[in-house]
Amino acid sequence: MESYIFRTNNAEETRNLAKSIAEKLTSGSVLTLEGDLGAGKTTFTKGLALGLGIKRNVNSPTFTIIKEYKGGRLPLYHMDVYRLEDEAEDLGFDEYFQGDGVTVVEWAHLIESQLPLERIDISIKYIDETNRELMMTPHGKFYDEICKELKNESFSH
Ligand code: ADP
Ligand code: MG
Repeated sequence: MESYIFRTNNAEETRNLAKSIAEKLTSGSVLTLEGDLGAGKTTFTKGLALGLGIKRNVNSPTFTIIKEYKGGRLPLYHMDVYRLEDEAEDLGFDEYFQGDGVTVVEWAHLIESQLPLERIDISIKYIDETNRELMMTPHGKFYDEICKELKNESFSH
């Protein structure tokens, strides 16, 4: 499927982009995030939480693979599979992917074979200190529509 490119000029724009996506998501939505350390994966996830109306602060799940945030329009399941030892390791991810909430997976390629087919893959590229390029590749019509809607909205000031 066609990819969509977005540029953000600061962290707030990345959060706002994610916030806008969050408003369009439903139960069982899945997003994956790729990008080097410091690219903005957790910043993006903070925006998702804001868009879902979650008040708790989201930070990198350092010691846990999966963190669950409740209290918003939908629960947010934040996975960071960076420290998974064995790629085939199955920690019951499917229950999250098919659960009531929205799942976002940092370093998703490490569990590639366990990911649902329908999802948005987001790759964040560091351009310079404050600029990032986000490439979104939707898999499935639902996610393609979301990307199209986003393209019609404007995020730069
Ligand atoms: P990751 O989770 O990918 O390791 P983080 O989101 O934790 O990355 O860190 C990204 C850092 O880059 C934050 O300190 C954030 O404020 C900063 N930053 C600067 N510009 C941007 C931008 N346009 N988008 C996202 N983060 C940005
Ligand atoms: Mg992170």
